[in-house]
Amino acid sequence: MTAQSSLPNGRIIDGKALASTFFSEIKEAASTLAVKPGLAVVLVGNDPASGVYVRNKSARAEECGFESRQITMSSDVSETKLLEVIHSLNRDPRIHGVLVQLPLPPQINAKRVIEAIDPKKDVDGFHYVNAGRLAVGDLEAAFVPCTPRGVLAMLKHVIGPNLSGKHAVVVGRSNIVGKPVAALLLAENCSVSIVHSKTVNPESICRQADIVVAAVGVPCLVHSSWIKEGAIVIDVGINRVATSAGDVRLVGDVDFESVKDRASAITPVPGGVGPMTIAMLLRNTLDSAIASLKQENTEVVPGA
Ligand code: NAD
Repeated sequence: MTAQSSLPNGRIIDGKALASTFFSEIKEAASTLAVKPGLAVVLVGNDPASGVYVRNKSARAEECGFESRQITMSSDVSETKLLEVIHSLNRDPRIHGVLVQLPLPPQINAKRVIEAIDPKKDVDGFHYVNAGRLAVGDLEAAFVPCTPRGVLAMLKHVIGPNLSGKHAVVVGRSNIVGKPVAALLLAENCSVSIVHSKTVNPESICRQADIVVAAVGVPCLVHSSWIKEGAIVIDVGINRVATSAGDVRLVGDVDFESVKDRASAITPVPGGVGPMTIAMLLRNTLDSAIASLKQENTEVVPGA
């Protein structure tokens, strides 16, 4: 591992390459198990972006030797019908991870749907039980949401295993990215600040940070004037913006061009955090399969 102080400024963290090392490790580990890890992805409706995400997840799961099941339901499906599908996946011993692609159509209460997933199969880590475990720092028992887990893996790849004492600023406080990233960094003994839409002068707070994680959904919000020389910058944002040529291109929440020469390391968009999210989804599913095998073994009552 490279020490942060020895990094030349402008190092670009290749999320695709890092994710592919994780995919290889996951595939290798899955091949040694007595069961195939099983991942079920439920897609409601025909939102094109959600369709792409779901297909990518299913394809990667198959490549890693998992049993991959994709359940597609029409956009006018009732909440009752969707809950029935989730209950049957909860009972299915071949399925170790259940994921419902968000967002859901308005007739469905997303909170009720997520709470219906068995916390032991909640590989997205959105169930209150897993969110609570992460909040109290019980990382052994928690499923950590995939994007935050990917962010932490990227930081450790750059800095090394010890993040203790670093000042980290997380921009954004959503339940799926900002808050869990902050909880993970706190568990790593970072001093963590969260800035959000109501923060007064977020720029001056960010400028103190050794680590900046941006998860906002505002294209190029974080400029070089927000960044301390040598800081590490992780850009979670994925924003579609129109180009002057009439195309659409993806940009992050960080102004990559201005920040890259000031930061010691930075993730690009695309090709940064995105690929790591799927790698961590498969890692969580593998962990779930291993946990269920362990439970089966301990449930054998001697002499019965
Ligand atoms: P969200 O809309 O739920 O939350 C955005 C947060 O940003 C809010 O907490 C809000 O307070 C804060 N915010 C808004 N404007 C701000 C401002 N001007 N200054 C400071 N904070 C501000 O979004 P989310 O679900 O956390 O996603 C954030 C971004 O990350 C989006 O672009 C999303 O597409 C992307 N994302 C990427 C991945 C991935 O795999 N790479 C996964 C999830 C989300």
